[in-house]
Amino acid sequence: MQIPFNKPFLIGNETAYIEAAVRKGKLSGDGYYTLECQTFFEERYGVTKSLLTTSCTDALEMAAILLNIAPGDEVIMPSYTFVSTANAFILRGAKVVFSDSHSHHPGIDEDAIEELITPKTKAIVVVHYAGIACDMEKIMQLSTKYNLFIVEDAAQAIESFYKDKPLGSIGHLAAFSFHETKNIISGEGGMLVINDSSLIDRAEVIREKGTNRNKFFKGEVDKYNWVDIGSSFLPSELTAAFLYAQLEHIDTIQHKRLLLWNTYNNNLQVLKKIGIGLPTLPDYASNNAHSFFLICRNTEERDALIATLKNNNILAVFHYQSLHQSPYFLDKHDGRKIKNADHFSECLVRLPLFYELNTEDILNRIIPLLYNFFKV
Ligand SMILES: *Cc1c(COP(=O)(O)O)cnc(C)c1O
Repeated sequence: MQIPFNKPFLIGNETAYIEAAVRKGKLSGDGYYTLECQTFFEERYGVTKSLLTTSCTDALEMAAILLNIAPGDEVIMPSYTFVSTANAFILRGAKVVFSDSHSHHPGIDEDAIEELITPKTKAIVVVHYAGIACDMEKIMQLSTKYNLFIVEDAAQAIESFYKDKPLGSIGHLAAFSFHETKNIISGEGGMLVINDSSLIDRAEVIREKGTNRNKFFKGEVDKYNWVDIGSSFLPSELTAAFLYAQLEHIDTIQHKRLLLWNTYNNNLQVLKKIGIGLPTLPDYASNNAHSFFLICRNTEERDALIATLKNNNILAVFHYQSLHQSPYFLDKHDGRKIKNADHFSECLVRLPLFYELNTEDILNRIIPLLYNFFKV
């Protein structure tokens, strides 16, 4: 039997709620289930306002519009991230300035950011890689010192914390993902979190194609108008119904993922002795078991490992070509070496981790293969 890298799953009332959404007579956005999902986030994570979106990509694009990012503005973010983190700001005409990762962890090196700040810098986007928090005190200090907006790309960070603060509740804005590869899924789906309350009204307009439809439904205006730019960023109730059924079981999902993650972690410590990197968590970061990864010693070793696993019907994947080296960005980059990001692009591999995976699969099939491959 093949062990895939990821597998979507049903855990509760997903299909029942989709049917119920149809019967409620409203399938477009902002119905019953959308509100339930948003309330869940606001109550559980104490965020000021959350708006369900069709993807994290859309939430990031909304963030860029909300912050009035325009040509001439500079936005700092890690090079080692998903395309959408940067693309959202490129769409507004910003100059993206890529920063490096830590040497031992793919998250942005907070101490390397300040030297990249110029009078044109308008925002910093941090990515909580693998759900592991960035040092948000250092980031918020930069925000205060230089008057910069902070956006948390929390795509991977649901149910994870910086000290006692839920990720996504600290920056001015944050974006979550419910793509099928994340912990909580709805196929495609996302959430924009707005912690700066002065941005809420406009966020609602941007999400509704630039109209004040939301105010109209609340009875605050007597007709709805085109009042700003925007797009169709809100998902249908089909997506929200599926998502809410998953959120209801978030504790069960997280419990299982942590069990799997710890099974990998407890059994793979021995790899450190031969120089293979494992995830490291600073003492201010909690673990949401989004991803378990290894950092190989070189690309050849990483590629050979993926091939060996594949020959044994186990699918592992690598990811993120550092964005400063991407075909789109290469000729726009200022030429700085961003070496840790390149290292993770070349050496990182993610092992299978999904709700329906079993500890036996890890213990009986994956771990023995890894021991054999690395000769430990
Ligand atoms: C998954 C992911 C995204 C994109 O999320 P979508 O919901 O697929 O748009 C953005 N940033 C990071 C760091 C991600 O992991």
